[in-house]
Amino acid sequence: MTSIAEQQADSPSPDPYGALMEIARRPPITFTHGQGGLLWDSEGNRYLDFVQGWAVNCLGHCPTAVARALAEQSTRLLNCSPAYYSEPMTRYAEALTAAAGLDRVFFANSGAEANEGAIKLARKWGAKHRGGAYEIVTTVHGFHGRTLATMSASGKAVWDGLFEPKVAGFPKVPLNDLGAVEAVIGDKTVAIMLEPIQGESGVWPAEDDYLRSLRTLADERGLLLILDEIQTGMGRTGALFCFEHTGVLPDIMTLGKGIGAGTPLAALLAREAVCCFDPGDQGGTYNGNALMAAVGQAVLEQITAEGFLERVCEAGAVLRRGLESLSEKYGLSGVRGRGLLLALDLKPRADGFALVEKALAEGLLLNAPAPDALRFVPALNVSDAEIAEMLDMLDGLLKGP
Ligand SMILES: *Cc1c(COP(=O)(O)O)cnc(C)c1O
Repeated sequence: MTSIAEQQADSPSPDPYGALMEIARRPPITFTHGQGGLLWDSEGNRYLDFVQGWAVNCLGHCPTAVARALAEQSTRLLNCSPAYYSEPMTRYAEALTAAAGLDRVFFANSGAEANEGAIKLARKWGAKHRGGAYEIVTTVHGFHGRTLATMSASGKAVWDGLFEPKVAGFPKVPLNDLGAVEAVIGDKTVAIMLEPIQGESGVWPAEDDYLRSLRTLADERGLLLILDEIQTGMGRTGALFCFEHTGVLPDIMTLGKGIGAGTPLAALLAREAVCCFDPGDQGGTYNGNALMAAVGQAVLEQITAEGFLERVCEAGAVLRRGLESLSEKYGLSGVRGRGLLLALDLKPRADGFALVEKALAEGLLLNAPAPDALRFVPALNVSDAEIAEMLDMLDGLLKGP
């Protein structure tokens, strides 16, 4: 038997900062600061950021509104436990539920935690009102987070066989196939859960009519419709919530990413009739803390300010047109997505990862969710000049060496 020290000597960490668990292949760059659409590293290099923390920093790096909310709230009250009311918590709960057209909210610290709560809420509702039904129909290639239950709910093929046994009760159907959903619904089904646009797997939109049909189907069969708007919500698609494009109101909705504009905040919202948690069923020491509630309020005010979402639509149209003309120029397979959640389909090319690496070396942060696609999730307040600079650099990259 080899000692742990010997094992370590045998396999030195490829991470130059070996104290960190290697949960991602990080490039050998250390970022020091950011402002708006730009980041700088410890060598003083400048980067144009079209990743923004994976669609998280919806107002760009270090937005004034967030800095101000953090500074002001941090001297008044940070946290008094979710078992008490605080002024920022109640005020923000009112504002967010009113904006969403849903009745109640549970605040969380990450998207996965909000989804975990959504799954628990649906199961509790099934136990109370649907004779113990607990199965939640989810989609192939869907992404809902990295806790055990949310990994089980996700349809990521590379996770098959990982951390077994999975949490049971998540039959999967292909996206945009209504018949497949109908076929899988049974006595044990309590809900249908999906992203309005599958983000992590490469920006694959649920069709508007499909979402409307799911709403009808859920109503007919007495099932809950759960929309994971963690990536699509908070203005990302040009509406405050993506469901607004279709008029489909979910029974349960989860929010994350942009909701905190770079700070750890997420939310689980639901219709009154679904809110069946009893005291003790759900909680968490940080949940709904005053500091994050104050930030969430400030972010919501920014996104719902006069003209903000119109500008997101406009920037989205500018970015889409630019990507479409690059697609034509280089014989690629077009653009998909909505607002400022867009993907360029690189097929017949499959060098997305190589393009991302080259872009980084030239000072541009891009993301390839798959080898044959690039995903664009800039700050929602991205400027036309930043879009033009990115498109120009991408043109150069596609042209090749
Ligand atoms: C990012 C994401 C999650 C997970 O959120 P975390 O904050 O990383 O836990 C869940 N669902 C969707 C659709 C996401 O994009």
